[in-house]
Amino acid sequence: MANLNGKAAEQMTYDAIVIGSGISGGMAAMELCKKGLKTLVLERGRMVKHGEYPTANLDTWDLPFNNLVTQEEKALHYFKQSRLSWWVNQDNLHWIVKDDEYPYDEINRFDWIRGHHVGGRSIMWGRHCYRWSDIDFEANAKEGIAVDWPIRYRDIAPWYDYVETFVGISGMKEGLKQVPDGKFLKPFGLNCAEQKLREKVGAAFPKRVITQGRIANLSEYNPAVHKGIRGQCQTRNRCWRGCPYGAYYCSLSGPFPVAEATGNLTIRPHSIGAEIIYDKETKKATAVRVVDAESGESLEFFAKIIFCNASTIGSTAILLNSRSERFPDGMGNDSGELGHNMMDHHYGMGVSGVLPGLEDTYYKGRRPGGFYIPRFRNIDNATKQKDYLRGFGYQGGASRRRGDLSLPAGKIFKDGLTIPGEYQISITCFGELLPYHENKMQLNFNKLDRHEMPTIVFDATLRDNEQALRKDGVQCGIEMLEAAGCRNISSYNEETAPGACIHEMGTARMGKDPKTSVLNKWNQIHTVKNVFVTDGACMTSSGTQNPSITYMALTARAVDFAYKALNKREL
Ligand SMILES: Cc1cc2nc3c(=O)[nH]c(=O)nc-3n(C[C@H](O)[C@H](O)[C@H](O)COP(=O)(O)OP(=O)(O)OC[C@H]3O[C@@H](n4cnc5c(N)ncnc54)[C@H](O)[C@@H]3O)c2cc1C
Repeated sequence: MANLNGKAAEQMTYDAIVIGSGISGGMAAMELCKKGLKTLVLERGRMVKHGEYPTANLDTWDLPFNNLVTQEEKALHYFKQSRLSWWVNQDNLHWIVKDDEYPYDEINRFDWIRGHHVGGRSIMWGRHCYRWSDIDFEANAKEGIAVDWPIRYRDIAPWYDYVETFVGISGMKEGLKQVPDGKFLKPFGLNCAEQKLREKVGAAFPKRVITQGRIANLSEYNPAVHKGIRGQCQTRNRCWRGCPYGAYYCSLSGPFPVAEATGNLTIRPHSIGAEIIYDKETKKATAVRVVDAESGESLEFFAKIIFCNASTIGSTAILLNSRSERFPDGMGNDSGELGHNMMDHHYGMGVSGVLPGLEDTYYKGRRPGGFYIPRFRNIDNATKQKDYLRGFGYQGGASRRRGDLSLPAGKIFKDGLTIPGEYQISITCFGELLPYHENKMQLNFNKLDRHEMPTIVFDATLRDNEQALRKDGVQCGIEMLEAAGCRNISSYNEETAPGACIHEMGTARMGKDPKTSVLNKWNQIHTVKNVFVTDGACMTSSGTQNPSITYMALTARAVDFAYKALNKREL
């Protein structure tokens, strides 16, 4: 049918389009809007506004089945994600994409944890934020692994400063070269058991530091930055449900209100970015084709700049689906690396024990996070390992348990609850996964989903380096708890899979050479200069640090570059 609206193209034209509204998309949208660009955010999921968090004010007893999800429901809708035993609960069920509605295939097991709604996984994340250092940026080049990063710490350091100031990270300065200090708000602090662990481990192993987890929760309110939208953390410890106080960072309470206030922001929910349209004459992208998730309609939105922030797998899927005469294997895929080098952190390994000697102490209140032990392996010659490359870090916490909970139910049990128990320390190890070309995701054009989009097939696995690293990660954890004087130490090293750590990255990597990488040092597709990918797909290696703050810093940096290039008419 002829389009009778003469202004149709004009109405669908923006200065910039951002695909995805999660952690990186929120930052991209805010930065673009602040620079005065009319910006359209395309989000495949439903609209959620700050404050619309259905379980945020409920207690466990308000939730069905004491917050548990029935086996039947898991088997029907969450049969893949419930392989992570802690993940699917009544309080977060509404944020989780159902496995049966959006199927994918696995040549090797891949745990794909998604959030299809405005805000993406910024609502659900654990909020740990650690800077990368040159130990990470130089590792590939020094070890001859994959390709070199096209940037170094000095390139991103000012952007860490910039985003950390906005995000608000509570943490302790430690002067460590492997996780540089940042612009921290005051720490929530270690409790007495964690402090004891810090002292004992520090005495036994001077390179192992127990510090407070650096988390994106406002321990202090700064009116100049938080502008009455976000408030100080009330330590309710229900962050993953959404915070009515806006006390932890998510796209809904952080960047979107700032972007909205500029008058430049349009968010279009239910808009599945299907492909980016390429114009071979100008060698640029002109539009994003969208499938409306509600009507099934196919629409095109036009812009001078396109930011892909649909998450690592989402953005890579869009690029792989953006096939043209010039790019038969996906946009920007001259190198053949698009979809390859899939990384995540691997965990499913850790240690716990009981810390005696603090029976006459207690601590008060809750905190939104525990402690962190930064990487201490392979950070210099003295810590070099012969069995494996790279390293691991730990997240953990210590708490005082109730009395003997093995007592029978009834009065004896209730009385038992009032007796202070032992201090229990648990640490979970997060290991680096190397960028293997063989670890990949592909599209299956013969198997379409409910929106007629090709489905994804994953084929990624842990290899010898990771297995050797895991053994050492567990052993070092045992050593540290022994050094602290713990008893009843137990450890685990379970079967796990990429995706399980929810830090997937690497499938459209940055690099210096278009023959071996997809993006340049500005996160710009080497061969399509007005398309930027600033989510985890851009990562050239995985480090050991939780990655989202790095995506945010790279995003703000790329927007600044794009804006300047646009003004110089280079885009
Ligand atoms: C339980 C949990 C704990 C975590 N803890 C931490 C942590 O402590 N520290 C840390 O750094 N990271 C953590 N993460 C990971 C973190 O959430 C991700 O790294 C981060 O959200 C990635 O940001 P993103 O913008 O790339 O993607 P997302 O935040 O996932 O946002 C992507 C958005 O794009 C949308 N989208 C996808 N495809 C399309 C499409 N085709 N068209 C339009 N829209 C699309 C999605 O619906 C989504 O809204 C955690 C994640 C979870 C779930």
